[in-house]
Amino acid sequence: MGKETGFLELDRKDRTYLDPKERLTNYKEFVVPLPEEKLRAQASRCMNCGIPYCHNGCPVNNIIPDWNHLVYEGDWQNALEVLHSTNNFPEFTGRVCPAPCEASCTLNITDQPVTIKSIECAIVDRGWDEGWIKPQVPERQTGKSVAVIGSGPAGLAAAQQLARAGHAVTVFEKNDRIGGLLRYGIPDFKMEKHLINRRAVQMEAEGVTFKTSAEVGVEVSFKALQENFDAIVLAGGAEEPRVLEIPGAELPGVRLAMEFLTQQNKRNAGDDEVRAAPRGTLTATGKHVIVIGGGDTGSDCVGTSNRQGAASVTQLEIMPKPPEHEDKALTWPDWPVKLRTSSSHEEGADRDWAVLTKRVVSEGGDVTGLECIRIEWNGGKFEEVPGSEFTLKADLILLAMGFTGPKRRGLLDKAGVELDGRGNVAANTQDYATSESNVFACGDMRRGQSLVVWAIREGRQCARAVDKALMGVTDLPR
Ligand SMILES: Cc1cc2nc3c(=O)[nH]c(=O)nc-3n(C[C@H](O)[C@H](O)[C@H](O)COP(=O)(O)OP(=O)(O)OC[C@H]3O[C@@H](n4cnc5c(N)ncnc54)[C@H](O)[C@@H]3O)c2cc1C
Ligand code: SF4
Repeated sequence: MGKETGFLELDRKDRTYLDPKERLTNYKEFVVPLPEEKLRAQASRCMNCGIPYCHNGCPVNNIIPDWNHLVYEGDWQNALEVLHSTNNFPEFTGRVCPAPCEASCTLNITDQPVTIKSIECAIVDRGWDEGWIKPQVPERQTGKSVAVIGSGPAGLAAAQQLARAGHAVTVFEKNDRIGGLLRYGIPDFKMEKHLINRRAVQMEAEGVTFKTSAEVGVEVSFKALQENFDAIVLAGGAEEPRVLEIPGAELPGVRLAMEFLTQQNKRNAGDDEVRAAPRGTLTATGKHVIVIGGGDTGSDCVGTSNRQGAASVTQLEIMPKPPEHEDKALTWPDWPVKLRTSSSHEEGADRDWAVLTKRVVSEGGDVTGLECIRIEWNGGKFEEVPGSEFTLKADLILLAMGFTGPKRRGLLDKAGVELDGRGNVAANTQDYATSESNVFACGDMRRGQSLVVWAIREGRQCARAVDKALMGVTDLPR
């Protein structure tokens, strides 16, 4: 523990954002890092708790008190080593993680958690700036080969761990660039994509081969992979979107959030319109946009719509509005259900809760509005409130209602692996083994729609299970 009285002397101070007027003019990240002396002071607030709840709240079990202490001491290089010992890609989580560690922090009992996420991000950003992050090339090769299908955070973490253990790893990715939802879901203003490219360079130097535009089950035969590789890791994500089943949902003005978000990320990457939008340009410019779904994806649609110059943005959620403040006695150290206002919401959007959509209104095939009704929730069921119907003006309706599980057509049909009751690939978190021999599964494809940090955890743990299955023993950490 750096400073015994740190938490008594100092309040929590976190990173700030550029003004919305400035950040809405582009798609760049807008978080302003804290200067070094402020970061060290914030790290001094950590109490090095006897039971560090943060460490358990963090899905990769980051050793948070240790790196807080090292940052307070100014020993950034050792802090980086401790951070990397549990997380392959802290620059991703340091930007997009909702930080369950901070919800678990003992100092969150008084709403003053240690600024864990900002400290994490600062450690790894500094590591890159200083040139401390280098490829970790294995001393010997095992002679075994592994095919990883999918290059999201789960596939990347699994591939990096397996390559460092000395296996010959090939990552197959159906998209034209690697990264999964980090690349084509999460907008650049939350996480710029050069961060993924930089890791790809590191991983290639460690021996990983990337094959893009290679959809297994379509362009690449799954059987051929089984014949040519000693093990296969399924890390294809949970890409099946939940759809809207109301009259008018089939109209061209009702579109999936992922189509909209992917197009913008491709434009930001410098793709021309044909490459960015092969099925036709989709933008919010000058339109009244309604986003259906109150989660992360919906919030990203709000931020992207505002950057594209939407006339108005409204976000609807079927669940009731959560409380602004959680009851700590009931929730801490767990993740509380409470009202979350993202930076995209702060940039401008009307938000409404407990709203059921009934019908898309159109004229001559063009969407002009959305008919809705208010609902009341009772014991897990909802009832429509009589007389509460209303219609919102809309030119574009974006569907951001989550994902029901992995796509079955193609890869999973060909792989023939058993699915669990929710339609995800059945595998436990001890051996990550599927019903097919030498085929493993991790990330959203195994657990269903989740978070980047959980994908990294599963990728790491799955790599350990694969290494053990191939070699009989393993030194990889869980
Ligand atoms: C819009 C959006 C915003 C999000 N924002 C956040 C956030 O801010 N913070 C957070 O923690 N989480 C966020 N998430 C969730 C997070 O992105 C996912 O939980 C995480 O990316 C899952 O990682 P994964 O590696 O399991 O799968 P994915 O990231 O989905 O990667 C799977 C990859 O597999 C590829 N693939 C699939 N099938 C095949 C095949 N047959 N052959 C070859 N390749 C294949 C896909 O193309 C994809 O690249 C967000 C999700 C969305 C949709
Ligand atoms: S719970 Fe908070 S104060 Fe305690 S060790 Fe973790 S970060 Fe430090």
